[in-house]
Amino acid sequence: MKRKKGQLFLVGIGPGHEDIMTPAALDAIKQSDLVIGYKTYIKLVKNLLEGKEVISADMTEEIDRARKAIELAKQGQSVTLISSGDVGVYGMSGLVFEILKETGWKNGDAPDIHLVPGITAMNACASLVGAPLTHDYCCISLSDLLTPWEVIEKRINAAAMADFVIGLYNPKSKHRTEQITKVQKIISEYRTPHTPVALVKNAYRKKEHIVITDLAHFLEEEVGMLTTVIIGNSHTFIFENYMVTPRGYTNKYQWDGQIIKGQTRARSLVVDEVTS
Ligand code: SAH
Repeated sequence: MKRKKGQLFLVGIGPGHEDIMTPAALDAIKQSDLVIGYKTYIKLVKNLLEGKEVISADMTEEIDRARKAIELAKQGQSVTLISSGDVGVYGMSGLVFEILKETGWKNGDAPDIHLVPGITAMNACASLVGAPLTHDYCCISLSDLLTPWEVIEKRINAAAMADFVIGLYNPKSKHRTEQITKVQKIISEYRTPHTPVALVKNAYRKKEHIVITDLAHFLEEEVGMLTTVIIGNSHTFIFENYMVTPRGYTNKYQWDGQIIKGQTRARSLVVDEVTS
């Protein structure tokens, strides 16, 4: 009998709650024989795992986990490797491709690879605090486990200088507590102390906790492994406890919809008086 070709699904399960998981992610998990993931993520989807083989792994075993997923899929199983949020955002999909490259895999070889996007922490957390990402933003992970601190610091400087809204992933852990203080100092060189900052912990999970504060004060609040920090740009404001970054409409329009003199609809902004 011809053995069926193995399938490897790389699936982002979103921030935690099943409602914020895409139907495609649910489907991939349902279709698979085997689900592999970090144990916290396995717990988040345990309702979907009945009758499936499950490999739940420790955080530090990423290479093993990825190799195992590839190997088992190659043998003919449908394997799903899950990450929280999006599987390609500080997740496992890059590593899987690095291993495939290293082992000489070619397109068409077993296993087939399917990528299923998920809602990343940055987007999930933004939805809980308003509209902080309506202008250019970037994400920076403060984890220096695999990236030299100098590189991270350089990126923080560049992002702060360029007035990006900045999302910080992995802001702090048990052994890594100083980085966030350094980051606050660097960003304060470019932005005012009143710059809005949102701290969202456990978004869409049981212990969800949200604080809206500012650049001068956010270090007084609890920040941990499961917090995403969103730092506004120079135009971000707080309105009724929502954090809002304007898109720039008032550079061109009045609130009655009329165009401001000197500007033209659907044409580049004339920059004389423009502030953003
Ligand atoms: N692949 C994930 C990110 C993994 S890095 C994604 O796309 O979301 C882990 C970091 O993500 C955490 O340190 C935290 O900063 C952030 N994070 C993940 N889940 C979160 C949640 N439910 N609430 C807030 N932040 C979260």
